[in-house]
Amino acid sequence: MSKRVIVIGSGFGGLSVAARLAVRGHEVVLLEKRDKLGGRAYVYEVNGFKFDGGPTVITAPWLFDEIWTLAGRNREDYFQLVPCDPFYRLFDHTGRHFDYGGDAQRTLDQIDRWNPADKAGYERFIRSTKEIFETGMALIDKPFLRAGDMLRVAPALVRLQSYRSVYSYVSQFIEDDFLRRVFSFHPLLIGGNPLDAASLYVLIHYLERQWGVHYALGGTGAIVNAFGRLLGELGVQAHLNSEVVEILADGRKVKGVRLADGTIHQADIVVSNADVAWTYMKLIPPRYRKKNSDHRLRRLKYSMSLFVIYFGTKRRYTDSCLAHHNIIL
Ligand SMILES: Cc1cc2nc3c(=O)[nH]c(=O)nc-3n(C[C@H](O)[C@H](O)[C@H](O)COP(=O)(O)OP(=O)(O)OC[C@H]3O[C@@H](n4cnc5c(N)ncnc54)[C@H](O)[C@@H]3O)c2cc1C
Repeated sequence: MSKRVIVIGSGFGGLSVAARLAVRGHEVVLLEKRDKLGGRAYVYEVNGFKFDGGPTVITAPWLFDEIWTLAGRNREDYFQLVPCDPFYRLFDHTGRHFDYGGDAQRTLDQIDRWNPADKAGYERFIRSTKEIFETGMALIDKPFLRAGDMLRVAPALVRLQSYRSVYSYVSQFIEDDFLRRVFSFHPLLIGGNPLDAASLYVLIHYLERQWGVHYALGGTGAIVNAFGRLLGELGVQAHLNSEVVEILADGRKVKGVRLADGTIHQADIVVSNADVAWTYMKLIPPRYRKKNSDHRLRRLKYSMSLFVIYFGTKRRYTDSCLAHHNIIL
């Protein structure tokens, strides 16, 4: 039966869920507090320069394809993904660089320039990431709500050495310190610290090698615009500058939301794409969330935040050794 659904927030999570629910025949209203769609993929425009506010590399393109397929459309008709080669260029403190990419032979050639003795270890490392990927991806979209959920996967996690950090896991295979950092920097992409993030995150190596690393032609904003077009075609009503200040409930049943300007939107279902602790603490009155009290939420450990500095330049640095994504380790 068709329901009236409110989605709070238009990050990729909110855009995706709005599309999926509309495809299933629900009446979907998307409420975004900012003046444009995109969330962390917001596009800033300053003095004629455009900046992708957050994500710029796409590592799981099939997730976009799946949504367009569900909607009976072809994703390529909406936006194009272009493979990055290399994936990233990593510099050491002396300015030497390592091109990190998906081609095994080219990677081995690069390792040869730094420490030939690490080539065999790298091949063993890459082989080991396959099983970690298969286990990790099976867990990635499962909620861990009870102790039993964790117990069920514990044996596999122990076998795959998830108790180790990414850096420690990589160090079993690689001896050169810079190469260790090259193959363990990935948790930084998700706000983690390679020295303490669980080694499960080495699955990103496998993911990148299997599907490549892509960028969207025209920038990540092109994906956000494509979602805007798709949602319009699916009949989703998107309201910008619409900040939700409270999720309204009647006993244990949700009724809708109240906006900062006092407007009430009724709904059978409310989906929040806002950060989870924010949703609980700011949008749901304490009487409806005995287990998720402010006290409990404040004591959780959160991933680190970041500062982003955007540079606009009037020249192209084609004569430098910079690539599209440069990382200094
Ligand atoms: C600098 C940076 C670089 C990144 N690079 C990459 C990358 O290259 N590749 C990659 O895969 N990932 C990258 N990420 C991570 C990726 O951007 C995020 O994981 C993803 O965009 C998060 O999407 P989301 O839908 O979960 O949440 P968000 O994008 O945070 O969306 C939440 C939305 O909810 C809205 N909202 C919140 N509260 C309310 C409210 N009360 N009422 C109405 N609306 C509300 C917000 O305005 C926002 O639009 C990067 C992140 C950052 C910050």
